[in-house]
Amino acid sequence: MPREPLIIGEMIHHTPEGDIAEPMALATQRREAKRGKYTFLVVQCPLCGELHEHSDGDGSRVPHCAGRKPFSGEYYVIGADQHAVPATTPYPKLKKPLKRAA
Ligand SMILES: [Zn+2]
Repeated sequence: MPREPLIIGEMIHHTPEGDIAEPMALATQRREAKRGKYTFLVVQCPLCGELHEHSDGDGSRVPHCAGRKPFSGEYYVIGADQHAVPATTPYPKLKKPLKRAA
């Protein structure tokens, strides 16, 4: 069963050129790696519904599914303020890596 995109809202950036709206993407897990030397996020994508990995911290990221039509852009990750789980914690089930459109 494919995952459904997790729609939680938009982040509006006010710029001199006008407002830019990015869909918000919720970090479902914050994980330790390299024995706690760094942390990263597992994000449920509001565009394709798959789980993507991103560097730690809230903010704009280019989703790994970007380039898939019709969307090509960024989303805004939130939820990085959660406790990081050890690397031994079961990983949210990831489907096969998304292949980039040719
Ligand atoms: Zn995606």
